[in-house]
Amino acid sequence: MNFKIKQLLNDQINKELYSAYMYLDISNYYGAMGLKGFASWFKKQAREEVEHADKFIEYLLEEGEKVQLKNIEVNKDLFKDIKGPLVKQLEHEKYVTSLIYNIYKEASNINDYRLLSFLNWFVDEQTEEERTAKDILDKFELLKDAKQALFILDNELAKRK
Ligand code: MG
Repeated sequence: MNFKIKQLLNDQINKELYSAYMYLDISNYYGAMGLKGFASWFKKQAREEVEHADKFIEYLLEEGEKVQLKNIEVNKDLFKDIKGPLVKQLEHEKYVTSLIYNIYKEASNINDYRLLSFLNWFVDEQTEEERTAKDILDKFELLKDAKQALFILDNELAKRK
């Protein structure tokens, strides 16, 4: 495998695991507030990120490459209010999309069609992640002045499978 590609894929494992850590941190933040639906939604989001990391691990192993796990950073954001993590989530997913696009670009440059095909799943997944993050933030903005809004949104987020 191309050295640069291999490094990018190894880095992406770390980025996905960092995402999991960040979402767990957000889950804990909401959990401490008693917003159990928010907490549960972000905990599930964290699990999904571990699955993303796993896909990159499997890809590298299937290609006969070694996997190099790196230290996972901790989330340094101190959230001031309920909205903060929702804004952070959207920003973060846009950032992850840019990382996936960058790997995609590198794979295109060297005509690595197998990797491009593998990455297509992530391109679609990032569209979904950004849309979902925006949707939650939009709902929060729409409802924020209504008294019972938090309970409604918390209940909705609790339903995520
Ligand atoms: Mg991800």
